[in-house]
Amino acid sequence: MSIKINPTNGKTVPLEVVPRGTSLHQFAFMKTKSTDREDYDDPFYVMDVKRLADLYQLWRESLPSIKPYYAVKCNEDPVLLSLLSHLGTGFDCASKGEISRLLEMGVSPGDIIFANPCKQTSHIKYAARKGISLVTFDNEMELHKMATHHSNAKLVVRICADDPTARCQLGVKFGCSVTDACSMLHVAKHLQLQVIGVSFHVGSGCQTPDAYRVALEMAHEVFEYADTVGYHFNFLDIGGGFPGSDTELALFQEVASTINLSIGRLFSDRHDLNIIAEPGRYFASSCFSLAVQVTSKRVTSSSPSSENESFMYYVNDGVYGSFNCLIYDHAIVQPRVLENSTITRSSNSTYSCSIWGPTCDSLDKICTALLPEVTVGDWIQFEDMGAYTISGHSSFNGFVKPKVFYCLREEDKESFEDVFMNLLTSRVAVSLPSLCETAIQNTGNSVLAVVATELKVTC
Ligand code: PLP
Repeated sequence: MSIKINPTNGKTVPLEVVPRGTSLHQFAFMKTKSTDREDYDDPFYVMDVKRLADLYQLWRESLPSIKPYYAVKCNEDPVLLSLLSHLGTGFDCASKGEISRLLEMGVSPGDIIFANPCKQTSHIKYAARKGISLVTFDNEMELHKMATHHSNAKLVVRICADDPTARCQLGVKFGCSVTDACSMLHVAKHLQLQVIGVSFHVGSGCQTPDAYRVALEMAHEVFEYADTVGYHFNFLDIGGGFPGSDTELALFQEVASTINLSIGRLFSDRHDLNIIAEPGRYFASSCFSLAVQVTSKRVTSSSPSSENESFMYYVNDGVYGSFNCLIYDHAIVQPRVLENSTITRSSNSTYSCSIWGPTCDSLDKICTALLPEVTVGDWIQFEDMGAYTISGHSSFNGFVKPKVFYCLREEDKESFEDVFMNLLTSRVAVSLPSLCETAIQNTGNSVLAVVATELKVTC
């Protein structure tokens, strides 16, 4: 089974169907035995494609009037981008590189917002050439640059509306005050620019639903002022910040209900209003898990215990790789031993340990944990690793990005296809019955049967 990720060059990647009754944990364990990566002991990601479809469906149910423009910076995995594009999302791009990547994949310029308020001039010119018209700004200098290089853009003023409890505050760098937004409308008018609405970002990993209410009230003030300047705003971009981990779905529902109530209260008289959001971690985080191998081990205590650190484990991805999220995204990660769940352990004891990345830097420490004792060659898995991980991976000390295995559980197959069918609606024609050219392929240990199918999606 493969997923077409680039309609222009026909590039596909394999999608493996996990046999009925096999958990994704077990699937990841099986993958540790497979040799289909550069070195058999390289770390790897597993992406659950059904989870992405579920999240998209939940979004549609919870925020039906808001079109998500996925924030590419969060994770630019080609399958993630391709599936989202087929599902009907737009995309938030930060640079020429992200824009060109999406255009190459066949994404329409109308489905892209250039949402970096401070842009390199050549990137503005590129956006203009490629017909990307939605562009955000938050300072006067950008208005002058837009007047010179992209005077037909549909501009969106980004205001600062931070949730002080968000995991990553963005307001220290981006977003202007309501007062500055209003005064810049005069400048924009003078420069004969089209400003069509307001955007904000409450901060990545928002913890307080009420932050969206406050932000929407501020946006509403700018809308009202725009009327007095002779602009008619019809565009509202509520940014990102939506929680993404498996355990935060209730928080997402709370956020959604706050947003729906506030939009109903503040904007119901604006009948031509177009509302978008720029979620990143909401879609990417929980679809990906990461498996790393224990490459070395140091025993630090002669009598191992759960109180004092007993073992130091060295693994083959770290802070300069996928775990850059510990620094840039203030992430807290939870390890667990990746093992054959059909075999019972001889001991349930857990010991205090520290887990270290592969580089020669002592800053490269992932976490401390309580784990059963493992040894060189064993594997450790981390869940919720899709957001701000692989996208910030560096090649420091020569380590390369882990490969991603894309999978779909057999029991999810039908509902995945249904979800896709329903969501694709009139956008694309898809031949799902003929999508399944089934070929069962046994891996070496005959535990994993992979159903090979081609997902044929025609735009
Ligand atoms: N939009 C912009 C402009 C951003 O800078 C970011 C993240 O930094 C996002 C959207 C995505 O945010 P999140 O992953 O919190 O949804």
